[in-house]
Amino acid sequence: MARRYIPVALEQRVRAAAQNRCGYCLSPQHLVMARLEIEHICPRAQGGSDEEENLWLACPLCNGHKSDKTTAVDPQTGQHVELFNPRLQNWSEHFEWSEDGT
Ligand SMILES: [Zn+2]
Repeated sequence: MARRYIPVALEQRVRAAAQNRCGYCLSPQHLVMARLEIEHICPRAQGGSDEEENLWLACPLCNGHKSDKTTAVDPQTGQHVELFNPRLQNWSEHFEWSEDGT
């Protein structure tokens, strides 16, 4: 799919809302060796829009791993579940560090 232009003012609003960190791993821009990317929560390949409410920040690793997916198999239940939505859901309610720090 062809890359579309995200206006600078819109990108700045998304960066501010995301506190300039990845919405998935929470890595801040200053610790990521590449520029955080504007990602589509609902991928354009699935009809997602370029509207602000569908955009968030992601580091290249998280964005590449998420790709055009909106669901994944939960390894604990084997069920297909919706992926985390950084605009609608609370990070700390979905993720936690394990005892071994991973
Ligand atoms: Zn990330």
